[in-house]
Amino acid sequence: MDRWFCYFLLELNSELASLTDLISSFVPPGLTTDKWIWKMENNGVYSTKSLTSAIDNLAAAARVSLNPTILNNLIPQKIGIFIWRASKNKLPVHTELDKRGIDLHSTRCPVCDGDIETLQHSIISCKIAKEIWDSIRIWWKLDHLLIDNVSDIAKASNPHLKHPLLASFWKAVVWVTCYFIWKNRNTHVFRNNPLCPPKIVSNIQSKSFEWLSWFTDPISSSFSAKPKDGIG
Ligand SMILES: [Zn+2]
Repeated sequence: MDRWFCYFLLELNSELASLTDLISSFVPPGLTTDKWIWKMENNGVYSTKSLTSAIDNLAAAARVSLNPTILNNLIPQKIGIFIWRASKNKLPVHTELDKRGIDLHSTRCPVCDGDIETLQHSIISCKIAKEIWDSIRIWWKLDHLLIDNVSDIAKASNPHLKHPLLASFWKAVVWVTCYFIWKNRNTHVFRNNPLCPPKIVSNIQSKSFEWLSWFTDPISSSFSAKPKDGIG
């Protein structure tokens, strides 16, 4: 190769490197280098306070959009949200997952294997759920639960419970029962925990006592405990 041509190539390579450096460090007038900006603060700097405030605003907006029958101040909000999801058929029972194309190999109930798992079956009709509901009925000394369909859950009305406070307590217990049936179904499915209806009912009762403060002595709650002063 010609010597001068080699010099030319070296010079060309050097100029190319210089040009690359120049372009990479070039910032057009009026612009700054790229950086992250937190839009929830005027100064663009992230703060936990602004994030917490934004989450609170979103939660408040979500509460406003909820059906009023889904609100229940007697029990934790997570249970109200669970009931809202159930009323919209948004719980991931096997038939719903199957509809969304998730291959589970079977849509049968993972608890009893006695039927396909719909929300109605899981919360109301499953053998374990029925046993739990019957214990709740006995606890409340009711002839009929009047919780025959998923659509009965949100209102949970029972004409035998005429006092408004009693009706509110009953509604709360129905919701807590649904929540515990679903929660225990999940621990059975995902952790293979055995399902023990008397134990689940006991948990429903103790949590109901805790949240509703019905009893002066919550420790007295047991599977055979009954609401005091005419409840049920
Ligand atoms: Zn079942």
